[in-house]
Amino acid sequence: MDLSYGAEYEAFRDEVREFVAAHWSREDARNPERITAFRLKATEAGYLYRNIPRRFGGSEQPADVLRAQVIHEEFTSARAPMEIYGNGVRMLVPTLLECGAPWQQEQFIPPTVRGQVDWAQGYSEPGSGSDLASVRTRGELVGDEWIINGQKIWTSRAHECRYMFALVRTEPDAPKHQGISYLLLDLHQPGVTIRPLKQITGQSTFNEVFFDDARTPLDWIVGRRGEGWQVSRATLKHERTGIGNAETYLEQFAKLLNVARSATRNGRPAIEDPIVQDRLAEIEGYLQAHRYSTFRQLSMSLAGKDPGPVTTMNKLVVTNLGHMIAALAQELIGDASLLLPVYEPGHKVGDERWMNQFFGSLGIAIAGGTSNIQRNIIGERGLGLPRDQTGGDS
Ligand SMILES: Cc1cc2nc3c(=O)[nH]c(=O)nc-3n(C[C@H](O)[C@H](O)[C@H](O)COP(=O)(O)OP(=O)(O)OC[C@H]3O[C@@H](n4cnc5c(N)ncnc54)[C@H](O)[C@@H]3O)c2cc1C
Repeated sequence: MDLSYGAEYEAFRDEVREFVAAHWSREDARNPERITAFRLKATEAGYLYRNIPRRFGGSEQPADVLRAQVIHEEFTSARAPMEIYGNGVRMLVPTLLECGAPWQQEQFIPPTVRGQVDWAQGYSEPGSGSDLASVRTRGELVGDEWIINGQKIWTSRAHECRYMFALVRTEPDAPKHQGISYLLLDLHQPGVTIRPLKQITGQSTFNEVFFDDARTPLDWIVGRRGEGWQVSRATLKHERTGIGNAETYLEQFAKLLNVARSATRNGRPAIEDPIVQDRLAEIEGYLQAHRYSTFRQLSMSLAGKDPGPVTTMNKLVVTNLGHMIAALAQELIGDASLLLPVYEPGHKVGDERWMNQFFGSLGIAIAGGTSNIQRNIIGERGLGLPRDQTGGDS
């Protein structure tokens, strides 16, 4: 089995590595202007926003998953910035490219790609998470506006976002999957109240969002009335692909090894303890297996096949891996695992950052469809088992 990418792609790797070395240094990471300038150069060179047309601020490159993979690997290892991180670039832009009207693409994609606006994902509601198609937030067409009433929950970063893409019930008499529309709306309006939710770490990264006669124009709908469910599938596909990537966890594992080298067990470096070695070997085994599984996903995409449940499986495995890494690190750091990290200017965060990592790993197992739901999808669509009767279909 030849797992190298081949001469053409290794030559491309050299080119990317040279580009990053010439235009990026790790000190730039704290300088927003340098980050923006680097992203612009990397886009001009064809490395970022590859599937976005140039007229919308992308680099419009031919689809080539191996080139995309090489770029990801090289940028990640140099800690150089990739595309702006957020629901806008990750989920809404690909959805608009796939299903949006030309005017929506022109108006919304360029400022999103430049990082001038970001988008909140308005899917989950109290009582509608795994069973997402049961959303109850209503949208009524009055004149040339949608009037929206109801509530969303767990809305990540809504307090920092200008807009939302939301699943809203606009056809109350239709069967549940056919009664939903995919609406865009401005969060900065009197009909919208955003209330932060306080998390166990003391942070507030997600919110409840209330709509009381919130308004959005008639044509801020993606796809047709009642077809929001199909449009939302495009968004979720991009969310799950993003979560399943291996590089981030390879880097986390390297950090875990450093913790095992510096922490002590019975007066010796923890990495020399046979039980710790056993746990590390187990994690590395899963990590390497996952890496090759992402190659499989790549090969299927290269061959023009839909990776389908392989993507789902990768999301599930990587989620478990993140948890295993954080849980072992937390055990090794001892007392520091009782502290919450303090993110303040001038304060250097130490090992206690693993505490956030640990809680975050639990959250990732829920976000974008819980691990149980991923197992259902693998069972039904991958293994052909009978359908789940309880209604979870997010
Ligand atoms: C960090 C984070 C960020 C998030 N960000 C957003 C966001 O920006 N926008 C947004 O809309 N939502 C967001 N969510 C919400 C997320 O999508 C939902 O929490 C998720 O879909 C699960 O829904 P729920 O919380 O209602 O749990 P439920 O659906 O009530 O599930 C509860 C438990 O029951 C299990 N379960 C439910 N149905 C089944 C079934 N059929 N078979 C087997 N087990 C089942 C689940 O696995 C889970 O363990 C976020 C969540 C997290 C943790």
